[in-house]
Amino acid sequence: ERIVSGEAQGQEDWEERSLRPQSLSQYIGQKTVKENLTVFIEAARMREECLDHVLLYGPPGLGKTTLAMIIANEMGVNLRTTSGPAIERPGDLAAVLTALEPGDVLFIDEIHRLNRSVEEVLYPAMEDYFLDIVIGKGPSARSVRLDLPPFTLVGATTRAGMLSAPLRDRFGVVSRLEYYTPSELEEIVERTAEVMDVKTDKKAAEEVSRRSRGTPRIANRILRRVRDFAQVRGDGTIDYAITSEALDLLQVDKLGLDHIDHKLLRNIIDKFRGGPVGLDTIAATIGEEAHTIEDVYEPYLMQIGFLQRTPRGRMVTPLVYQHFNMEVPER
Ligand code: ATP
Repeated sequence: ERIVSGEAQGQEDWEERSLRPQSLSQYIGQKTVKENLTVFIEAARMREECLDHVLLYGPPGLGKTTLAMIIANEMGVNLRTTSGPAIERPGDLAAVLTALEPGDVLFIDEIHRLNRSVEEVLYPAMEDYFLDIVIGKGPSARSVRLDLPPFTLVGATTRAGMLSAPLRDRFGVVSRLEYYTPSELEEIVERTAEVMDVKTDKKAAEEVSRRSRGTPRIANRILRRVRDFAQVRGDGTIDYAITSEALDLLQVDKLGLDHIDHKLLRNIIDKFRGGPVGLDTIAATIGEEAHTIEDVYEPYLMQIGFLQRTPRGRMVTPLVYQHFNMEVPER
C-alpha cells in the first residue's frame, strides 16, 4: 500500500471520522465549490425546498465524502450513504430510495459504476421523485409506480468522463474538487494535529504539506506516521527534523513522490528518451495496468507539471530532469 495513495486504506475510515470537518466554515480550501454551495444551500433553505442534486468529482481523498456529510448537516437532514457497486439491481435502488425521509441527502460514491438498468430507474427519481419498476416476469410482468419523498442526490466520482451524459445532465450542481494548495494543506495539518492532540511546529506542518500531493487524506496519513516516529525517537513533538527524517525513511521525496512515481518517470527517460511514448507501452514496461497509470499515477504528475499528455503520447518535462539532478537533454 502506497503511503502517498489518495484512497482510504485499512482502518482509516474509522480514524478519519473524528477528523472530518462538520460545517462549511470548518471545511478548508475549495473556495469556489464552497462559495457556490453556501449560496445554493441558503437559497434552498429559504424556499424550504431540498437542495438540487450535486455531482462532486476529482481525485480520491480530496474531501467528497466529507462535503456530502456537510451538505446534509447544513441542510439539517439525514445522510444515507451507498456506492455504485453496492446497488446491483433496480430493486436495490428502490429499497434505498423508498427508505428516504423528505429532504434527505443520498450519497452515492463511485457513481460512475452504477449499471445501466439501475441508472434508468434513477432518472425519473431524480427528476420527478418517482420510481417506475417492473415486477414479475414474462406475461404477468407489470410496471408499478412508486412516489418518493423529495431528496437530494450527491454523487461522487473520480472519473467524470465515465458518467453517461443523461446522468450527468440531471445534476443541477456539478463541482470539481481541486488539489489543495500547500498553505491550505498546512491549515488542515494543523487542525488534524490539534484533534490528535500532538504538538507540531510551523516548519513541520509545512514539510508534511509539501509532501502530501495536495491531498488531505495523504497529509493526515503522513502526520499519523510521523507522530509514531516522534513518539519512539523523540519526545512526541513533531518538529521539522523528525518529520524530514521520517519521510525520508518512508521514501516519500521532497515533492511527495515515491518509488512508483520514480519508476514511471525514470522509465520514460531511460527507455524512451523522455517520450513521447504511448500509455500502453509505459504500462507494459513497468508492469501496471494502463487505467491505473491514468487514474492513479498520472494526475498528480501532470498537476505539478512533470508529465504532459500529447497526441503522440506521454512526455516528461525538463522539471523531471532537474528533480533527478540530471542534465536536460537537447530535443
Ligand atoms: P474518496 O475518494 O475515498 O471518496 P474523498 O474525496 O471522499 O475520498 P474524504 O473521505 O472526504 O475524501 O476525505 C479524506 C480525509 O481528508 C477526511 O478524513 C477529512 O478529514 C480530510 N479532509 C478532506 N477535505 C478536508 C477539508 N477541506 N478540510 C479538512 N479536512 C479535510
